Formats: sequence, C-alpha cells, structure tokens
Amino acid sequence: MLGLSFGKLLLLAIVVGVVWFGFRYLTGLGQAVRQGQAAGGVNRAARRAPAIEAEDMTACARCGTYVSAAKPSACSRADCPYRR
Ligand SMILES: [Zn+2]
Repeated sequence: MLGLSFGKLLLLAIVVGVVWFGFRYLTGLGQAVRQGQAAGGVNRAARRAPAIEAEDMTACARCGTYVSAAKPSACSRADCPYRR
C-alpha cells in the first residue's frame, strides 16, 4: 500500500529524530530553551518594560518649540519665558 511499509516509516521517524536532536545539540537550542524556562518570570517582566522612558513636553509660549516640562531649556529669543 503506497509503497510504505512499517519498517520504512520507523526508519523515517528515526532519521527525523536524529536530525532534530542533532540540530538542537549543534545549535545549543535545547539549552537556550531550558535556560529561558528557568528564568521565565524574570525574562517576561523584562520584556514588558519599555525600552525608553517617555517625557512630558510643553510648548514655549513665544516660539512654540516643545521643550521638556520637567527641565525646560530656553530658546534663542530674548523674550523666552524659560530664559533665566
Ligand atoms: Zn521659546
């Protein structure tokens, strides 16, 4: 039937298994997966953390340039409200 005997299917399964575990061994994929599972909680928390922190900006009343709301820096105009 279809030229596939039980022996051929068994040999195919063994070859696929050897290739799969050989690939995992050579690339270190299995070790990386185990390490990821061991430190899974920490990794997931770190992945959810934002890459950069957002900063609130506010527009200059004179020129309209957006500057940091926490530490505004003055523009070059003499009447800049952030000039000290
Ligand atoms: Zn300004």
